[in-house]
Amino acid sequence: MNLGGKPFGRFSGRAQDPLPEHRAAQPGKDTALHLLLDHQGRVLEVHGAQRFGVQPVSGADTTRLLLDYLVPGSTQALEGTPADWLGHSLDLDFQCAGGAVLHTRGWVQPHADGWLLQLLDISDLRREGQQAHNRELCMQLSLSLARQLRLCSMARLPQVTQESLQRIGEQWHVPCIALALREEGQPDWSLFSVYQAPGAAHLWEVGQSLGSALDSLSGSRHSGQAAANEQPFQFRNLLGATDGLCMPYHDQRGLCAWLLLGFSTRPVLMRESDWSHVCAALAGPLLERLREQQQAEHRERVQALEGLLGTGWWEWSPATEQVQLAPQLAENLSAPHTPLTCNAWLALFHPADRDELSIRFDELIEHGKDLMVVARLDLPQNAGQTPWYRIQGQAVGAGSQRRIVGFMLDVSEIKRQQLQATAAHARLDNLIASSPAVIYVQRYEKGALVPAFFSASLQPLLGWTLAESQGAGLIEWIHPDDREQYFDRTRQLLRFGSARRRYRLRDSKGNYHWLLDEAKLLRDDLGLPIEAVGLWLDVTEATETTERVRRSEERYRVLVEDSPAMICRYLPDLTLTFGNQPLAAYLECTPQALPGVNLGSWLSTEQRAEFMQRIARLTPQNPVSTAEISLQLPGHEYAWWVWSDRGVFDAQGQLLEVQAVGRDNTDVRRSQQQMTQSAKMATLGEMATGLAHEINQPLNVMRMAIANMLKRVSNGDVEHDYLQDKLTRIDAQIQRAARVVDHMRVFGRRSEVEQQAFNPAQALEGALALLCEGLRGKGIELRTECLSDALQVRGHVDQLEQVLINLLINARDALMSKRETDPQFTPWIALTAGAGDNSVRVTVEDNAGGIDPRLLERIFEPFFTTKPVGLGTGLGLSVSYGIIDNMGGRLSVSNTGHGARFCVELPVVEG
Ligand code: ADP
Repeated sequence: MNLGGKPFGRFSGRAQDPLPEHRAAQPGKDTALHLLLDHQGRVLEVHGAQRFGVQPVSGADTTRLLLDYLVPGSTQALEGTPADWLGHSLDLDFQCAGGAVLHTRGWVQPHADGWLLQLLDISDLRREGQQAHNRELCMQLSLSLARQLRLCSMARLPQVTQESLQRIGEQWHVPCIALALREEGQPDWSLFSVYQAPGAAHLWEVGQSLGSALDSLSGSRHSGQAAANEQPFQFRNLLGATDGLCMPYHDQRGLCAWLLLGFSTRPVLMRESDWSHVCAALAGPLLERLREQQQAEHRERVQALEGLLGTGWWEWSPATEQVQLAPQLAENLSAPHTPLTCNAWLALFHPADRDELSIRFDELIEHGKDLMVVARLDLPQNAGQTPWYRIQGQAVGAGSQRRIVGFMLDVSEIKRQQLQATAAHARLDNLIASSPAVIYVQRYEKGALVPAFFSASLQPLLGWTLAESQGAGLIEWIHPDDREQYFDRTRQLLRFGSARRRYRLRDSKGNYHWLLDEAKLLRDDLGLPIEAVGLWLDVTEATETTERVRRSEERYRVLVEDSPAMICRYLPDLTLTFGNQPLAAYLECTPQALPGVNLGSWLSTEQRAEFMQRIARLTPQNPVSTAEISLQLPGHEYAWWVWSDRGVFDAQGQLLEVQAVGRDNTDVRRSQQQMTQSAKMATLGEMATGLAHEINQPLNVMRMAIANMLKRVSNGDVEHDYLQDKLTRIDAQIQRAARVVDHMRVFGRRSEVEQQAFNPAQALEGALALLCEGLRGKGIELRTECLSDALQVRGHVDQLEQVLINLLINARDALMSKRETDPQFTPWIALTAGAGDNSVRVTVEDNAGGIDPRLLERIFEPFFTTKPVGLGTGLGLSVSYGIIDNMGGRLSVSNTGHGARFCVELPVVEG
């Protein structure tokens, strides 16, 4: 295909010339064809410049009619013979070789014996006419496309563009059309819209990137000048099309679109200028719309940003002398309406900042001096926190074009932070100034650290100034004994980056302060030291306090060492970790030998078990326990220690160690025992009368029996039975006396020996055996209910017996004194015993009226008695109380409806 070439010659250079009405009959050299016809219209000869091109379509060589040379159907009405055609203008289309058509116009005239048909080539004329028509069509279509693109909604823009391409394609039979655009600032072109005729080869698709290949089609695509040089580009196999055309589009921004046309046969009627027109009609409005959209988006973004930042532009125009504000800014400032007069604008700001802003604004307007002011807005009271704005402005343009433009930026947050930082700084300064601390900076200079800054607290704390510290000042202030410390601190600081030391520094008055120096070395990016920043903390007081504590500890140590009490610490398994001198003295060793010794080795097996049990009961809540412990010490028979333990626990409540203080109670205990003994003796004395009576009775009976026997023997009327009866009676009385005496012996024994397990029933029996007869003799009813169970309690049986005797005697005495006032009264004593949960309970109750409630609390006090002088000792109950307590039990008293009721409770022991 030869698109540019002209297959046919022209009839004339001036194709638009009207056809000459009368032409010379002679075939001229201008005529394309002249044919000689016979009267029937048969072609006899063919002449003229174009004669070689025309070909007959049909008919035999000899009989060819003119019609046989014409393109079928192209001639409106060529009927009849040449004579009929005379005087008519004939438009005839001849079939040429290769399918080409020769458009001609001509007329017939008689010639010799036939007719001469002279024809002019009007192909150019025809083409130009068609082209003109086509151009008009093109214009109309372009206008319509441009209109649609301008009017459609943004959302439909791609669709409408695509439809436009389709209309172009359909109009000029172009199978593939695409529009390539380039985003601003991007190097690559990409296809914005693509049309593909049905059945056409698939060349392109929407969004396809073309790289910068299209740029190579134009030499200088960016410059405006280049537009003139830009040529439409015909391509072959470029971008996948077999053939086609690339039409560039330029606007004020330069080359910004390409219309790509891919076809197999180029539409002849479309000239490049037409294509360029179509391209402009498409790309122009499209780009306009796209840029509009971009701008709208950009505006939206800016507005959003302005809203977020609280910023916006303002502009003062000299013509109106008014200030225009960005809409968002005007809203933020709650400006009534813009533009504002200058005064209205200034009135938006706080009176405190208004004057400054006004002056700076005037300076800007008059002298063009840049404006930069930070000012508060004037908000009504209680409107919350005052916003701060930074107002900047400058003059742009000159002469009549001069304007003042600027922006306002909400700096409230920064300002607030600034204020907070300032306040924090001031507080810190204040804190440092009032604390015993100095912050310092030492500059690094050739391996030395030179004082460069001290906080203001230096003066009140040490009385020095920065100037005085320079030179050899600082090192001279340091206590001579501590200078080595200081040098060491500097060495460490430089080597490891931080140091902490304590040394003494002299103040300006000559007093030394203990300072704790904490310093850190700061380095630059290369790791080279820049300066050391540090803190001096005055720890004089703390240091002195530590010293005092040390001394005090020493004193306490001496105190513990020299305490008369035994002080020790031991582990839960009773291994001593520490013991003082007195403890060592008791254990007959040195304090140094005590750690490792087991305290349990001086306790009997039972005592140790009891001791361990007591220690096991210590808890963080109840860490203290006191007990009297009995030990078998070397060289001592028995020792009784009052022993106070305090448990030391870890965080989990586990007993770690026990701290104990002990006091030797052996002497006290001995005298207590002696007292019990004396009380026993007193009871014994009391009982002596009873005993004399008790023993007198059997003796009297024996005496009388013997007197009677002697009388009978002397009378000689003695009988064997009688003798036997009397002797038996004497024997019984002797046995009774022996029993009484036997019990008396119990009182003679001291209960110094260790406690034994025994059945309390024994004590009950013993007491009853001693007192039963006497009580009955005094008319007192004795109600007894003895213990049936074989239980065991720990202690001394004789002591419990003594307690019961005491209680029975007290009851007896109370009953006797009551009967003195009421002879009708029937006295009784109830002695009961019973077993409870792990305990034995023995009660002695009487019906003597009880004890005055006011005296109840006091009756266990030693020497408390209500009995006449010489009769009561006031020791009975107190000693009894001690005995029961010693047995781990409890002696208590209460009043019943009839009288007093004493209760002895004792723990039962196993086995
Ligand atoms: P004493 O018997 O030598 O006075 P006690 O210590 O045995 O010493 O008794 C103290 C006091 O308790 C008695 O003087 C008495 O007032 C009171 N008392 C003891 N037992 C009884 C009792 N069963 N009824 C009333 N008072 C009692």
